[in-house]
Amino acid sequence: METAARSTSSSCNGDNIIAWFDHVAANAALVQTQTLRRILQLNFGAEYLRKWLANIGDIEDIDPNALESLYSSLVPLANHSDLEPYIQRIADGDSSPLLTQQPIDKLSLSSGTTDGRQKFVPFTRHSSQTTLQIFRLAAAYRSRVYPIKEGGRILEFIYSSKQFKTKGGLTVGTATTHYFASEEFKIKQQKTKSFTCSPDEVISSGDYKQSTYCHLLLGLFFSGDVEFITSTFAYSIVQALTSFEELWKELCVDIRTGKLSSRITIPRTREAVLDIISPNPTLAMKIEALCKELEDEDWFGLIPKLWPNAKHVYSIMTGSMQPYLKKLRHYGGGDQLPLVSADYGSTESWIGVNVDPSSPPERVTFAVIPTFSYFEFIPLYNTLSKEYGATSAAADDFIEGEPVPLSQVQIGQRYEIVLTTFTGLYRYRLGDVVEVAGFHRNTPKLNFICRRKLILTVNIDKNTEKDLQLVVERGCQILSKARAELVDFTSHANVARQPGHYVIYWEIKGDVAEPVLRECCREMDAAFVDHGYIVSRRTNSIGPLELCILERGTFRKILDHFIGNGAALSQFKTPRCTSNEVLLKILNHGTIKRFHSTAYCN
Ligand code: AMP
Repeated sequence: METAARSTSSSCNGDNIIAWFDHVAANAALVQTQTLRRILQLNFGAEYLRKWLANIGDIEDIDPNALESLYSSLVPLANHSDLEPYIQRIADGDSSPLLTQQPIDKLSLSSGTTDGRQKFVPFTRHSSQTTLQIFRLAAAYRSRVYPIKEGGRILEFIYSSKQFKTKGGLTVGTATTHYFASEEFKIKQQKTKSFTCSPDEVISSGDYKQSTYCHLLLGLFFSGDVEFITSTFAYSIVQALTSFEELWKELCVDIRTGKLSSRITIPRTREAVLDIISPNPTLAMKIEALCKELEDEDWFGLIPKLWPNAKHVYSIMTGSMQPYLKKLRHYGGGDQLPLVSADYGSTESWIGVNVDPSSPPERVTFAVIPTFSYFEFIPLYNTLSKEYGATSAAADDFIEGEPVPLSQVQIGQRYEIVLTTFTGLYRYRLGDVVEVAGFHRNTPKLNFICRRKLILTVNIDKNTEKDLQLVVERGCQILSKARAELVDFTSHANVARQPGHYVIYWEIKGDVAEPVLRECCREMDAAFVDHGYIVSRRTNSIGPLELCILERGTFRKILDHFIGNGAALSQFKTPRCTSNEVLLKILNHGTIKRFHSTAYCN
């Protein structure tokens, strides 16, 4: 009876939030004007805005119909570097209104997706409120397709990073870390208390290896109750389950005895986990038997076998996470378990929600939430690609149009996203390229295409993360025929000697004969469709592609390097191209074989 009542009330809440979203989506244009007005009202006196809006006496005096065009004509488009001096002053303790009227006391570290350079971004209460809101909205959509049993649990591979203080006393951490420490996260945990396997002491242990072990242990301890498995980015799930392949015997000992491995050394984490677990020899025996079978099957179907009641896996699987899909599907037992791609956002602002959880990750779109920020879209016309029939999305191939508001975007058109946020970013170029796939009511549904920033270039060639991903996929087709798999990859444009050339680094699982790897190298060199690359290769102004095979564990070292610099596993994304000296040192040190594609025949 009680369960039925709770179930009805939670589905009611779900229906309420969907009804709210449908309403704002239907009125997206008006809601965007209101959102812009609200942001400007709240922050009108801030120094950065005063610089551009000096001649405006009061936001209230502006005709609502003219607000957006006036704003975009007076305030220029900005990059992170334009705002950096203000953010630096905030970090140094200047509490005057610089970007926002209210003082900012937290800064987030965004991952600096491609070059590994982390950026500071303001974090406010609004940031955690919108995180909770999108979490609830996405959960409501998912529960329509994959209903969750009341009293069930979630196995969440989530991690806080270490926080530190700036010179001016502001707390710095990743956005997810601030969220995990916020009131909103507590609300989420309390309202869905029975759903979470790991307590806060595990999430915030500060040591991702110890957290992963405890997440796995508690996930197994409650295995019969786990309703779904999740992480912020798909990488974390793959990382955790790969560790499981090595840790399962030790985990089984802990389950059998109710004790905790000596590898968990953080006292409050130990205590919290020991409070939860108790000896369960029957469960340990069952898991051991399953793992022995799974080991022989290369861990295919690990998730449904160990968590038989899991209904789906939920995580960001698009963009730079796409290369992990294959491994996730492997762990999910092929089609046995649906993979639901999670929502689209950044440290700067949440952007869109997946309203169609049953669509496969390759086709997922994100409906923009018009209350979260004020969004503009810079149209990108890709003339070169059309002319040469190529699919390259590289930055300089684009001719930019004038930014348009959300209400004027066109289906099929690609855009760069521009944000005006409640946290004090004004007409801020996010650097993501999206394509409008359709509309939910009147708000656009976006396909994530890639980071705009050019990643691989030697001279006139231009290749993005997406271009590289497609090339690596071609090489991988040969690899899978040889029964090996790609663990992770990155690249580097080596211009130290003439002619410059591309280097692709691969960490692989399985033994592969050298002729096969040589063929992979040749295949990848020929797979770049960028016209600049093709021409340069033909004239040898770009040298043969180099494929470096890394010893196992090299990408783990890269992860450790980032974590040591304050990144959190929850937000980690392997840089797909790097010129960072430290990373190159790790990569070159870990290289065990090198191949050069010789003849170029494209
Ligand atoms: P960070 O602020 O460090 O967490 O990184 C944010 C960036 O991650 C975004 O600007 C995107 O490039 C990428 N990202 C976030 N969500 C998604 C998603 N659902 N699909 C693809 N890429 C995403």
